Amino acid sequence: MKRAQITKAYEPLDLNETKIPEAPAGGVVIKTTYSGICHSDLHQWEDEVSMGDGSVFKFTEVEYYKFPVTPGHEIAGTIYSIGSNNAGMNHKIGDRVVVYSWAACGHCKYCDEDWSNMCPERLRCYGFGIPGGYANFVVVPEAKHALKLPDSIPFEVGCMLPCSGITTYNAVTTIKPVVERFVKFEGKASVLIVGAGGLGLWSLQIAKAVLPKETKIVIADLSDEKLAVARERGCDDTVVWKKGMTEEDIIELTKSKGRDGGFDAIMDYVNTSVTSTRVFKCLRPNGMLAMVGLFGGCGQYSLPSMVLWSNQVTGVFVGKLHHLQELIELVATQKLIPPPLNYFKLDQVTDALMMLKKGTMRGRGIIKFD
Ligand SMILES: [Zn+2]
Ligand SMILES: [Zn+2]
Repeated sequence: MKRAQITKAYEPLDLNETKIPEAPAGGVVIKTTYSGICHSDLHQWEDEVSMGDGSVFKFTEVEYYKFPVTPGHEIAGTIYSIGSNNAGMNHKIGDRVVVYSWAACGHCKYCDEDWSNMCPERLRCYGFGIPGGYANFVVVPEAKHALKLPDSIPFEVGCMLPCSGITTYNAVTTIKPVVERFVKFEGKASVLIVGAGGLGLWSLQIAKAVLPKETKIVIADLSDEKLAVARERGCDDTVVWKKGMTEEDIIELTKSKGRDGGFDAIMDYVNTSVTSTRVFKCLRPNGMLAMVGLFGGCGQYSLPSMVLWSNQVTGVFVGKLHHLQELIELVATQKLIPPPLNYFKLDQVTDALMMLKKGTMRGRGIIKFD
């Protein structure tokens, strides 16, 4: 099998070959069809991220995370081989699957309850602590993490479901009870999505499919070009945060796009010091701010407003196994439009990571395997 591995920060990924692994007992081996290239892969390659409080997180300081690492947590492919002890999983050779990437250790009390986000070894997931999809074969130690992909979902869309898909699905279902309560009591609700990039557009489509139809969905971005795509895809209104506007004007303009002074729920896919501080001021009483974007510094909030209006602020990090199962069912029946794709071969991944770093990647980077 061929794979591309991070051996040292910023060094070109090492392309090497090794034997196709045996499927372990209880697990399967997948022949990769497509594998997404994500910003998290870039962070690993750089081996450090700013936590926003002055501290820096280094992957290689985690005890069980060691270079070389085969990145890639957005994996779609077919079942190549099946290990023993797989009774009840119903996998067949050749089945189309996507991998639930956030499996963590798989056997602690948290993992057993589908709460792997809390696993003490939660970096033990595909493309981080265990080998991922920058390879034409991937071992899935627990067969339940290889979820069947219906024929109606192309592989290219399928491989996005375990990362951008699951994250936005988790965000929308996190705000959903708040939105439903406002619709129940007031007959309507307003939701703001911050960022009209890949995550924002996924979020828009999922929100339209999952939230009550009385919900007004608005997207904010710096770029009116990106917002034009959001309008084409059915958002009810958009707000351009134009350069040169004062912060007060931006906040007033944004609030005016909501209802009665703002938004009942906000999903911030950018989540920097600027956007987070800004949109907190656009929340209506009893509203919820879901923070999704990573590594954006730290925000400033009025603590009395938070208390007096019983607002909720919550973080949303990827999602659980059941989220991915539900999302696959949803995508199979809805016509979701994926973001534009930018195809690479395995030996071009270092170039792809450089494009992500420079911000020159147009659309979503994806490795196509033969
Ligand atoms: Zn990802
Ligand atoms: Zn665990």
